[in-house]
Amino acid sequence: MKLNTPGTLASDGGTPVRSTFLPLALPSIGESEKRRVIETLESGWITTGPRSHELATRVAELAGARHGLAVNSATGALHLALAALGAGAGDEVITSTYTFAACVNVIEHVGATPVLVDVEADTLSLDPQAVEAAITPRTRVILPVDYAGHPCAIEEIVALARSRGLRVVEDAAHALGAAWRGRPIGSFADITAFSFYATKNLTTGEGGAAVTDDEALAERMQVLSLHGMNRDAWKRYADTGSWYYEVVAPGFKYNLSDVLAAIGLGQLERFTEMQRRRSALAVRYHAALAEVPEVRRPITREGATHAWHLYPVALQLERLSCDRARFARELRAENIGSSVHFIPIHFHPHFRDTLPYRAGAFPVAEEAYRRALTLPLYPAMTDRDVDDVVAAVRKIARHFRA
Ligand SMILES: *Cc1c(COP(=O)(O)O)cnc(C)c1O
Repeated sequence: MKLNTPGTLASDGGTPVRSTFLPLALPSIGESEKRRVIETLESGWITTGPRSHELATRVAELAGARHGLAVNSATGALHLALAALGAGAGDEVITSTYTFAACVNVIEHVGATPVLVDVEADTLSLDPQAVEAAITPRTRVILPVDYAGHPCAIEEIVALARSRGLRVVEDAAHALGAAWRGRPIGSFADITAFSFYATKNLTTGEGGAAVTDDEALAERMQVLSLHGMNRDAWKRYADTGSWYYEVVAPGFKYNLSDVLAAIGLGQLERFTEMQRRRSALAVRYHAALAEVPEVRRPITREGATHAWHLYPVALQLERLSCDRARFARELRAENIGSSVHFIPIHFHPHFRDTLPYRAGAFPVAEEAYRRALTLPLYPAMTDRDVDDVVAAVRKIARHFRA
């Protein structure tokens, strides 16, 4: 018979660290979101209109940009950004292999060629030196990602792009609220994309935004976001509007509904508070995990304001007799959710089969992937929840100590 001592893994018949499951992420929906959604439903205007426009304006302000466009996903925002910049067949777009597939899919959607490069070991965001080495006469756009909510090396990347006549589209899906040397993410790149997906720091269920200082780019993205029509529907049908419009390009259907924008406006009322809570939880993890040598904690560079979308740790596998998959399974048995950000792009069958990169091409990203484990982080978590995660990590690490 197995002994149920405090150190016995739940998978071995021990008592789990938690009696209820702690998910990796949960949206934080308050009364203001509910009130605004009901107001919108009763307003007579439920598709793109004043609320989507207000959300876009507010997000642009928060991100330090002149113009904003609310859309129905960050993927749509990235696609519109590349299309508005005219990236297409014959062009190369340089991005990170350590990202979500959307970044690379949209490069293919505009007909351009994705060029993958490795990441910096500390931030796990695009390595500017690797970018420089990958530039060819066909390079058109650099597409960096602010991994986990920590700003990428955006100043270096923008400087490099300027010196070579390239444009920068930043995937800031994780990074609303992040800043570099006090300047908000959204104020550096030609176009910056944010995500309002269910798990992101600000959510509309599904949604996103593109921000830019360039009025012509903003206008082009707006037209392309709704069928290529040169006026948007809510102005067309409003009293002062006109029934006339022209289709000036084969546009997309990426507009955001006002019902969803209303959720975002409610979220904005609590955004500062939610970000403060994420940051406090990260500080608590940081202190507690200092005592667990089997785990390396995420860094914050001097000068960075971290948005703390994710709390990813790196398992010190040389100190452990298990791999990451086993560690994650044991966490699940202890009633703690976790995930992995990211599976390198060049490991996915489609990209492995169509892009010229083999396993071993990007050693930093590949090593990061082998060790990566994202721990739960969301504003509704209590200090006690963090302590439970740390207790479970400690318990599993002790069991598998090599
Ligand atoms: C979530 C995410 C996206 C896609 O966001 P959607 O709003 O779901 O389209 C893109 N890039 C990164 C890095 C993400 O995490």
